[in-house]
Parts: sequence; structure tokens; C-alpha cells
Amino acid sequence: MGSLNIENVKKSFGKVDVLKGIDLEVADGEFVVFVGPSGCGKSTLLRVIAGLEDATSGRVVIDGKDVTSTPPAKRGIAMVFQTYALYPHLTVRNNMGLGLKQAGAPTAEIDKRIAQASAMLSLEPYLQRRPAELSGGQRQRVAIGRAVVREPELFLFDEPLSNLDAALRVNTRLEIAQLHRRLKATMIYVTHDQVEAMTLADRIVVLNGGRIEQIGAPMELYNSPANEFVAGFIGSPK
Ligand code: ADP
Ligand code: MG
Repeated sequence: MGSLNIENVKKSFGKVDVLKGIDLEVADGEFVVFVGPSGCGKSTLLRVIAGLEDATSGRVVIDGKDVTSTPPAKRGIAMVFQTYALYPHLTVRNNMGLGLKQAGAPTAEIDKRIAQASAMLSLEPYLQRRPAELSGGQRQRVAIGRAVVREPELFLFDEPLSNLDAALRVNTRLEIAQLHRRLKATMIYVTHDQVEAMTLADRIVVLNGGRIEQIGAPMELYNSPANEFVAGFIGSPK
């Protein structure tokens, strides 16, 4: 459940090579964080894993199954975006339940999962509100809740805290960590924030210019960065 293999994935937009051969194995239940400078291909790699972009070449394998040509809805993944991407006209409850409803889940099952997810994320008081009536932090919790109710094997987070203020970033980060412990799901998380990477990750993947510079546990990268670039991002000063 929830393992991921990325095999020599390349992605070009026209003549621009954005991903230049990415190989990565993620174990079931692992929390892996992608870090790297703006434009290095973090979001593109997440989108290729999600199936929102097709790889130019290479394979994406989830749970031993080649999903390279599988549509996003059939990959067993859920993605949380920096901008929340909620439907403004729907209540919190309906935002969370829409995906399940479209997939044909019975109402009782949808209600049960919304109840569980909203308890985990302290969203019960807000179920009848619309996104415009929520704070940024509450909106992002709804977006996370919408992912949780789908019970994916793999969660993808693209800079989910970037639009929140400092105090909320800490709270929401702790909630995501708690969610990972409870659900035991595989999580892949993009950030450019070193503290988020160091505190959340089982392993950190450092990307630069469409390639992986180094993969390792946070303290491994911190203590033994492979090069100046990794040191600049994660490592202790040399
Ligand atoms: P990051 O998330 O690390 O900041 P992205 O994956 O968003 O980087 O972008 C990597 C590069 O790919 C950037 O140079 C960006 O301009 C380019 N890019 C991303 N999406 C597209 C697209 N749909 N069409 C053309 N170029 C794109
Ligand atoms: Mg990005």
C-alpha cells in the first residue's frame, strides 16, 4: 500500500528540459520532502506523480502497478495545493464530499468519512460554511480534509503552508505530522522551508535544475551534505 517508484522520469515543455532523469523509491508509509530552489521542477515532479502532467519518458509505479498512463482519479492519490483550490460555491461539507460523491460512494459512507476527517482537523464547527467565510488556515485544513476523506494511499502536498502566517504554519505543520502518524499513509511534500523539511521528513530529496542532488535523512544531509549546493540548502555551515 502506497509505495512509489519513479524510474528515469524526464519532462520537457517544448525545448525546455525541466526534469532530467529522476529516480526515486519511496517506501509505504514514508514521509518524503522535496526541497530545492524555485523553478527546479518540484511542482512538475509532483504533477507527474499525480498524473496531472504526462512524463515525456520514464515510469511512475504506485504499489507495484505501472500508472504512467493511468488518469489521476485512478491513481489512489490525493493532492493538496498551496492555493487550496476549494469550490467557492460549495459548503465545507460538500467540498470535502464532492470527490466521493462523484466516485459513487454511498451517502452514509461519505458522511462517516467527513465526520472522521473533520474531527481530526477540528473542522466540525465550519461544515456548513463556504470557503469565503473561513480563514486561510481553516481553508487549508478543509483542503487537507478533502484529501483525507478519499483515503488515498499517497498524499501529495505542494507548499501547503506557503500562504499562511508564521503561527498558523507551525500549527498546520503539526497537524500534518499528526495525520501522518495516524493514517500511516505515504506522504510526499514540497517546500522551500528548511524547518518544515527537517521536522517533517523521514527523508529529504534535494532537487536542483531538474536533477536530484542528494537523498537522505534530515540529519544525514545536515551533517554530510554531498556538495556546496546541498550544504547551502540544508547542511550545517562549512
Ligand atoms: P518549482 O515548483 O520547483 O518552483 P516548477 O516545477 O513549477 O518548479 O517549474 C519548473 C520549470 O518548468 C520552470 O522553469 C517553469 O517555468 C517550467 N514549467 C512548469 N510548468 C510549465 C508548463 N506548463 N509549461 C511550460 N513550462 C512550464
Ligand atoms: Mg512549485
